[in-house]
Amino acid sequence: MEKIDILSLTLSELEKEIELLGEKKFRAKQIFQWLHVKKIRSFDEMSNISLELRTKLSVGFCLKSLNIARKLESCIDNTVKYLYKLSDGCFIETVLMEYSHGLSLCVSTQVGCKMGCRFCASTIAGFERNLEPSEILLQLYETERDCKRKISGIVLMGIGEPLDNFDNVLKFLKLVSAPEGNGLSLRHITLSTCGIVPRINELAELGLGLTLSVSLHCPDNEGRSEIMPVNRTYNIKELICATKKYAEKTGRRVTYEYAVIDGVNGEREDAQKLAALLKGINCHVNLIPVNSVKERNYRSSRESAYRFQKYLTDLGMNATVRRTLGSDIEAACGQLRREAAEKSENKR
Ligand code: SAH
Repeated sequence: MEKIDILSLTLSELEKEIELLGEKKFRAKQIFQWLHVKKIRSFDEMSNISLELRTKLSVGFCLKSLNIARKLESCIDNTVKYLYKLSDGCFIETVLMEYSHGLSLCVSTQVGCKMGCRFCASTIAGFERNLEPSEILLQLYETERDCKRKISGIVLMGIGEPLDNFDNVLKFLKLVSAPEGNGLSLRHITLSTCGIVPRINELAELGLGLTLSVSLHCPDNEGRSEIMPVNRTYNIKELICATKKYAEKTGRRVTYEYAVIDGVNGEREDAQKLAALLKGINCHVNLIPVNSVKERNYRSSRESAYRFQKYLTDLGMNATVRRTLGSDIEAACGQLRREAAEKSENKR
């Protein structure tokens, strides 16, 4: 029988499992705290749990872990990029960033991605599998252990499309914010999506306090469908409508990400279309100079992003240019994983 992934269980699920073992319910809370407050890596470390129960746990449950396969530290700022190896040999990336208000972690939600955005390295190697709630959570726990500091914010902007792994991402959100456990407020979490409209609507209904960030990248359907295939299923009008609803339901301002790509979406005309599209919406526009990916010809620079920002300002619209962190270790999101996967493929 396959062992149960104990780190993916919410407290109430754990309570049920513990009762099934014939133990008192309060033990579940003690175990949950060992897992999510002390963040131990072996059942043996649970010193207030009897040896008998610890043995039962190790028979019925597994305690997953991640291994650091590579770690790149920026010489410019304190950004650290981790390549984590999962128990089945897959790789994912996690990035630790330092801001004046604290440490923020960019986590992956899938191994690879199905969404096919043309400019994104994560999608080129294809989709392998969804991450379990525990595997998303462990990126936080292992990174905190490694850097020996508390991380105060999380962005779901690493490899994968979080809304394409909806149930596991929701479970992760529940676990990471559990008051009896890690206790991180959802207000300090941002979820980034390429625009899976029905899931945005579901998320809005749940009314969680997290910030939604939408990867827009192009102000018209023709151009967006070209670089983001998801737009052929859910077009811009539907997307904007869903994000407006999200903002209304949650009271949270939505962020639109716009990766400026030379010759694709960075002209004054694009700025005019973008300003018209977002007119009257209480939102934040974040411009990113596109990271070049070796298989694609897309190029950009900070100058292009600032030029586009100026076009928008001329139209009365505010936008920020995202700070470039760790530019010396920049390997655009997904590239490290792909290199590692290729290497282990070659060894076979
Ligand atoms: N799937 C989600 C989250 C992961 S991608 C999403 O699409 O939002 C995180 C962000 O990085 C997205 O805004 C994505 O469009 C952007 N991105 C991907 N590749 C990029 C690149 N080469 N340059 C700049 N931004 C990129």
